Order: sequence, then C-alpha cells, then structure tokens
Amino acid sequence: MEEILIHPKEHYLFRAKVIIPVTKPPIFSGCVEIKDQKIVGIYSYKELKQAPPKAKFIDLEDLVLFPALANVHTHLELSALRFRVLPSGSFINWLHQVIKKRETLTPVEMAESARFALLELWREGISILGDVGNTGITIPVLNESPLRGYFFEEILCFKGNIELKDRQSINGRVKTTYSAHSPYTVTPIMIQAIKSYTRKHKTPFMIHCAESQEEVDFLLRGEGPLVNLLVSRRKWDESITVKGFTPVSYLESLGVLDENTILVHCVHLTEDDLRILKKRNPIICLCPRSNLYTGAGIPKLPQLLACGLRVVLGTDSLASVDRLSIFEEIKILHSFYPEVSATELLLMATQRGAKALGFDGACELTEGSTPDLLAISLSFPLTEDPEKALIEFIRAEKKIVYRIHA
Ligand SMILES: [Zn+2]
Repeated sequence: MEEILIHPKEHYLFRAKVIIPVTKPPIFSGCVEIKDQKIVGIYSYKELKQAPPKAKFIDLEDLVLFPALANVHTHLELSALRFRVLPSGSFINWLHQVIKKRETLTPVEMAESARFALLELWREGISILGDVGNTGITIPVLNESPLRGYFFEEILCFKGNIELKDRQSINGRVKTTYSAHSPYTVTPIMIQAIKSYTRKHKTPFMIHCAESQEEVDFLLRGEGPLVNLLVSRRKWDESITVKGFTPVSYLESLGVLDENTILVHCVHLTEDDLRILKKRNPIICLCPRSNLYTGAGIPKLPQLLACGLRVVLGTDSLASVDRLSIFEEIKILHSFYPEVSATELLLMATQRGAKALGFDGACELTEGSTPDLLAISLSFPLTEDPEKALIEFIRAEKKIVYRIHA
C-alpha cells in the first residue's frame, strides 16, 4: 500500500472507476475534488467534461474510492496471541487459553506485536480506533501512530477497589479514559465508579456485555464456569451476590446505560433486554468474527437495528481473529444477514463508528470533510447498479492500493 499525501496548497481531482460515499449511492466513473485539504466536490466524470476545474488530475483507473474505516474495539496488547489461541466451540475454553498463554508473554513481545498490529490496522484502512488494554504497554505505540481514537485503560477488579486517577490524553490524536472489562470481572461499585469517571470527563464508557452463555449463567444464577474461574484465581468476593439478572438488566440496575455507553458484543439478549436497550439507547459494538472464533455465538443484528440502536463494529483482538479487518466483519454480517442493507453495514464500518468514539466528521467521504480515503482494488468489477454494486463491494476480496489523506 502506498500513501498519497494531500498538500494544503494543491488543488486535486481524483477520478476512480467507482466512488462509494456511503451516505449517497455509488457514482460510476466519478471524481472527487479536493481543495484546501477539504473535499469540495463529488460528481460523475461526465459532469466534469462540462466544467473542468483547474486541478492536479490523478486517475485511479479501475480502483474504487471509499472512506477510511473505524475499528471501535480491539486489544492491541493481545496481538502476540495471534495463532496461539485455538478457535473454540466453548467461550470458557477460549478464555482459559488466553489467560494461560498471556502469562507467558514478555513485555517486549507484547509491545513489538502491538506495534506490528498497529501498522496492520493502518494497512487495513483504519483511521479511528478504540484500543483497550490493562497494562498501558500500547500507549507509546499509539503515541507514534497516525491513527486517532481512544485508549481505554480497562479495569478488572472483582475484589477490592482501584483508585481512578485522572488520565491525560496520549497526544492530540489519542485520548484516554477507563473502561470496565465486564459484569463478571468488575464489582458493581467499580462499574459505577468507572461510569461516573467517564461522565465527569465526557468520554465514552465501554464494557463487554452479554458476550457468552457463561456470562448469562453467572448473572442469572450466580454460578457456572466463570464463578469457578474467579474462585480458582482468588478473585471471587463472596459478599457480592448477583442473581436474577441478564447482563443488560444488571447494567440497567447499576444505572450505567445511556447514550455514551458502548456495549461490546451483545450476543445473548432477551426481548426484555432489547426493550431496555431501546429505552436507554447505548451504542452497540459488534465483533462477529471474534464471537464465532470463541464459540460465543453470533449477534442478532436485525433485532438490534429494528430497535433503532446505533450499531458499530470492532475486530476485537488477534487472540480471537486472524486479521484486524473491518471489511471482513461486514462480510461475515452480510453472509448471516443478507436482509440487512449494504448501506447500513457500510455506515457501521465508517462514520457511525467514528462518531461512537466522538470523532464526528471522520471516516466520511462527503463535501466539506477532510480527505481520508482508501483507493481499493477489487477481485471482480462491480455491476453498474447502485444496490447490487454495494453488495458486490462487500463480498469482493479487497486490496487497499493507496491511502489518500491530509
Ligand atoms: Zn474485547
């Protein structure tokens, strides 16, 4: 992949075989005009012949122009676990493997693999990132990165308390805040404390929620393999008795569900859970390839969309996927739910994901936005029909040939 840097004083005109702005239908043989580092026009090549602007012309020939992507949830510090944790039909088996293998990693190995994974994210077309970590080992890596987003310092604490000190932004591009790992690894008081911190600092609040059947058993009956895991690791606090909840109703009872909460996974939901979610309107971040890998299941995307929820996408970590590719996440969702419109899937991958992390205007190909574009080669040409072309785009093998950015 090569980069085309947009200079502030140049006026550009890019032509591509297809332009996919996502918020509008695709334009076949289209042009994107860029001036003063802003997109000032998106139109078909035919229109250009009538009024050619004075601009540096770059013909991208058969490539497709598409906005950069948002990966709302990953764990870069687990990147060294790639291919070391086997796919599992059982979430608890996968989790046991991660815990065991993670203990063998050295800090150098973790930092180096995170650096490599970050480069991979750039090559996969990601611009906005939500990185979750317990050690802070990825902070220097993120500091050098061209990506923007959040580093979530994730709290795991089912016994005792952790003081939440004020966190500074890593740099102008990457902000920091705290997140809670899950309802089964963080005490109710700490979940509320982390939510309060994020309210005070006006940052998103992220938590894994309703990922596995094991998590449901933990909250519904206060038993199961996750209780055994905490007991064996001496992290179980007997004074905390949670019973009779689903993961969503539990978080609702703690008062932490609102429009700035990002619930990651949401695979195991009841009808009542959907009613709560509809009322509180949190953001739902799906990581379907990870769910299939860990044996957790597959999220019910159509039901979530029917509730009007803002669904966005993450890859999760390289401990549960082989590539940090948002395009692959869309492909999987499309194969499970062909009834969901292609535009909806592409919005989840781009501007809606960026917005979920507070980066409004990023991952857009619209007039007035700052250019951050992917020029993509596809394994087969797209049909000249707007709806069919978007579906074919999702299904095609993609190679990002250029990243075009200011
Ligand atoms: Zn995760």
